[in-house]
Amino acid sequence: MKAVFASRNKHKAEQVAVLLDGVELLPLDEVAPTLELHEPFDTFEANALAKARTVHQATGMTAIADDSGLEVDALDGRPGVVSARYSGDDATDDANNAKLIAELAGVPPEKRTARYRCVAVCVSDSGELVAEGSCEGHIVDDPRGDLGFGYDPHFVPEGEQRTMGEIPLDEKLAFSHRGRAFRALAARLGL
Ligand code: IMP
Repeated sequence: MKAVFASRNKHKAEQVAVLLDGVELLPLDEVAPTLELHEPFDTFEANALAKARTVHQATGMTAIADDSGLEVDALDGRPGVVSARYSGDDATDDANNAKLIAELAGVPPEKRTARYRCVAVCVSDSGELVAEGSCEGHIVDDPRGDLGFGYDPHFVPEGEQRTMGEIPLDEKLAFSHRGRAFRALAARLGL
């Protein structure tokens, strides 16, 4: 099977290439370098489908996308669907993390529960498939590790002492939100 990965996030592309081992995944920049993708909706599913539909319509090829983010309970689920641009359009990971930690100032450790969520989708001539995964954990003030991206240096998954930034990719994909979502999608694709 051949599909376009509807994202320009290199970290995600690296993870999805491992998770969808049997799929020839083409980078969006190779297939449709100028195509713009938008995430205007307030659910991960609607945003993931919007990105994959845009790529499928523009290229005629099977498109795979995900939409993902961090939900922090003490922040009523923020940053959620705006995780990538929490501190503004063109936000950096550092700026997003600084905003997250500032907003959690004074919140005690036991109230810092959070989860990563991911919705993975496939849009093709045969229809649309949707799968999701989540990963529970909590937020720590001091960043640790450079093995991940985004909020990983501040996110400690349940049952772990290490942050996601300290956990190697092959280990992380066994329980991460993206690992779970894409394994479920692969099963629906019959892979
Ligand atoms: P989007 O799915 O392209 O809208 O971006 C999701 C955003 O959520 C990323 O830019 C990160 O800030 C955050 N995020 C999603 N998944 C992860 C992850 O596995 N590690 C760290 N941050 C993540």
